[in-house]
Amino acid sequence: MKKTTKLYALIKGKCPKCRRGDIFTGTIYGFNIQRTNYSCSHCKQRFEIEPGYFYAAMYVSYAMNMAEMIAAGFATYYLSGGRLDFDAIWIYVVSILIVSLLLSPFNYRYSRIILLHWLSPKIKYNATFDRE
Ligand SMILES: [Zn+2]
Repeated sequence: MKKTTKLYALIKGKCPKCRRGDIFTGTIYGFNIQRTNYSCSHCKQRFEIEPGYFYAAMYVSYAMNMAEMIAAGFATYYLSGGRLDFDAIWIYVVSILIVSLLLSPFNYRYSRIILLHWLSPKIKYNATFDRE
């Protein structure tokens, strides 16, 4: 019996309890809008443990977004050759907006994965479910 690693489950968006079932439907950048499954198809763990549980993921997502915007700001500064004049404001605004938009499906997915895997003491990995 081979156990699933936590890293694999995190990257692939697998259930934190069994690391087998998918948390989301669809792919992160696919044509079908990704949704969060109600419960794990493998071990039946409910993902939204209580009503409104995913509001907490919004704070995680917010923190991720802030870090990404700061990174985009530094990248723009570097790529524009260190421009900080008034006309360069629009380069910053546009590049930060584009980065935020492109990463929003990523943030949606990984904020919930982080919440379920790291910030949910009620859900623990249970190796007995980690099998076919
Ligand atoms: Zn599961």
